[in-house]
This record gives sequence, structure tokens and C-alpha cells, in this order.
Amino acid sequence: MRAILGFLIDLGVDSVTSDNMGSVCERLRRSREKILNWFRKHGRRFPWRGEVGWYGVLIAEFMLIRTRSEVAERTFYEFVRAFPKPDLICSTDHKEVVKYFRKIGLPTRAERLINAVCTILSKYGGEIPCDYRKLRELPGVGDYIARVLLSRVCGKHYAFVDSNIVRILSRFSGKLLSTLEAARILEEAFTSKDLTPINIALIDLGSLVCKPKKPYCLECPVKEVCQFHVGSQNGFQYFS
Ligand code: SF4
Repeated sequence: MRAILGFLIDLGVDSVTSDNMGSVCERLRRSREKILNWFRKHGRRFPWRGEVGWYGVLIAEFMLIRTRSEVAERTFYEFVRAFPKPDLICSTDHKEVVKYFRKIGLPTRAERLINAVCTILSKYGGEIPCDYRKLRELPGVGDYIARVLLSRVCGKHYAFVDSNIVRILSRFSGKLLSTLEAARILEEAFTSKDLTPINIALIDLGSLVCKPKKPYCLECPVKEVCQFHVGSQNGFQYFS
């Protein structure tokens, strides 16, 4: 219990400060320009954020599970150089593929990537199935990766929510959110055109500014409408 309370205090969540979801969406929508401007200046430029197609997105997401982006970046470049096309990883000795994932401590991920890629080639003719249920049937593809693919590759209205986004939206709304609640807020707040860029910007904002232990609120583009920051300014004690 104590640990849970400690976590909530670290997160800055206090039921007194909770407000309703409609208001959270509205405040987020009004912050759109500020969030995007912040991202243009400070966002991280990872290679998988460009036009890399389903293959590049899939490689990156398999590498990013429990690996910091900065660490995965170098291995991503090496991997794509070695296997520039998906059919190569199906026809080569698996050990050659695994060795890249071993470098980042995720050798078993390589097998799942090989299985997912080869299934897309053999079962779907090399086209990603733009359907949540079918994506979840691919080896190693959980809710998060399915949503990333639907959003970034298929252009569908899906948010992909990692721990950075749960934290930032929990603080922003003053309510401890689940992953699903955070996804719903983003999907409701933004149009399909804005959803993916805002989603990516918030991942970076959570990672670089709204940090787990101590957020740098004064550098944050949404501080004026963030429940956590406004509450702190008004005397709420969020940290012990
Ligand atoms: S102002 Fe920004 S950094 Fe501070 S808690 Fe709110 S979202 Fe996080």
C-alpha cells in the first residue's frame, strides 16, 4: 500500500485535483500548436520516425521493447544495412539475425520478429494487414505494436500509449490513468491528421521533460493548463 501511495505521490496524482475527461481533451486540443512547436525544436530525430514502411516500424518496435531509444538507434542502423528487405531475414540463417538483437540484450525478440515478418510475407503477400485483430495474431505483436502499425503505417485513428504518455496525461489530468484511458483521451482529443504527430511529440515530452521522478514543468509547453503544475503553483504538495 505504502509503495502504491509513494508511486502516486511521485506521479503527482491527487484525486482532489481530478477533472473530467471532456475538459482534459479540450485543454489538450488547445495545446496542439504548443506541443507541435516544442517537438519541432526539441523532438528526437530517430531513423524509424521517417518513412520506413511496415518493415522498418516493426524492426524498431521490436528493438525498443525495454530498450532506450538512444541504445536501439545504432543497432537499428546496423540491422537495416544488413537486411534492407524483409525477405532477407526469412532466407538467412536465423543466427545472423539474432546476433543484432543480442547486442541489445533481446535475442528472443529476433525470433519473434523473424516469425512476424515471414508471416506477413507468406500469408499477406508482403502487405501489412490493417486490422487490429489480424495484427495481434502476428507473433510478438501486442496491443502497443499493433496500434503503432495501425497509426503510422495504415493511417488509422489509433493512439499508441507507452509509459511516458500514461505519466504525462495522468499528471496533465490529475488522475491516474490506465493505458486504455490515455489512448481514448488522445483519440478523442485529436483529429486523425493530428493524432500521430501529437502522439510522437508526447512520447518525447514525457521522456525529456515530464520525467518520472521530477518533471521540468518550467520548460513544458503545456504547463499553463496542466493540473499537476497548476496545482503545485497553488500550494498542493505533490512530492515528499
Ligand atoms: S507541466 Fe508538463 S512537465 Fe509538468 S507535470 Fe505537467 S505535463 Fe509534466
